[in-house]
Amino acid sequence: MKSIFGWLVVFLGATWIVKNNVITIPSNVQQTFQNGISQITTGLDSIVDSNWNFNQNASSNKDTAVGAKTPSESIVNDKNLSKIYYYSFADGTSDAVRSVFNQAIATYNATGIVQLKPGETKGWLNHITLGTYQKAMPAGKENVLELGVGGPEIMEQRGLVSRIANHASAKLNIYYGKSISQSVATHEIGHALGLDHSTSLRSIMYPLDRGQVTLSQADINGLKAIYGEANSES
Ligand SMILES: [Zn+2]
Repeated sequence: MKSIFGWLVVFLGATWIVKNNVITIPSNVQQTFQNGISQITTGLDSIVDSNWNFNQNASSNKDTAVGAKTPSESIVNDKNLSKIYYYSFADGTSDAVRSVFNQAIATYNATGIVQLKPGETKGWLNHITLGTYQKAMPAGKENVLELGVGGPEIMEQRGLVSRIANHASAKLNIYYGKSISQSVATHEIGHALGLDHSTSLRSIMYPLDRGQVTLSQADINGLKAIYGEANSES
């Protein structure tokens, strides 16, 4: 996925300097944040649709063992992220896209492990920007379509006051109409929340779109590993 990651950084128009997956923000951008961010790390990954035979070691029963969990992106490991997220749609997001994202949000809220609420926010609160982009696959490579992209962006302040927030994104590649689906939206929000790809066919984080819209027990365990147990009151 390295090359895709590199491509996406370029695609998003970012001017970050990437070193070992640690991103240094330019000083003029830094000044727009009031509280002095010491570090920002990003992890973006995509889901694809494919008509070729996928030869990964996919397994339908690997994750049935007690305690099996979907992996998390390394940049969210051992971070004390709040389970409260605000989300908003980028300008121009169609009703069809909003609808599939709203279905995906309901799936995550039903776990009680995270809580996604509509709202714009800046600063040290978690936020997910939802939207779309358009990317055609290069000629001759149309047998594997990129349907979406998503991932966390961790802002951290260390020192006297330690703070952390995830300003994540999840986007559907509307160049291909089949990207506007609940399964792709759920996968990309999974990335935004910090989940990484799974080799399990049951997982929402399997890297090929299979129309999956429900979280596996391993996916739920993966969320718990990042955010802790579900709140009983929510
Ligand atoms: Zn993915």
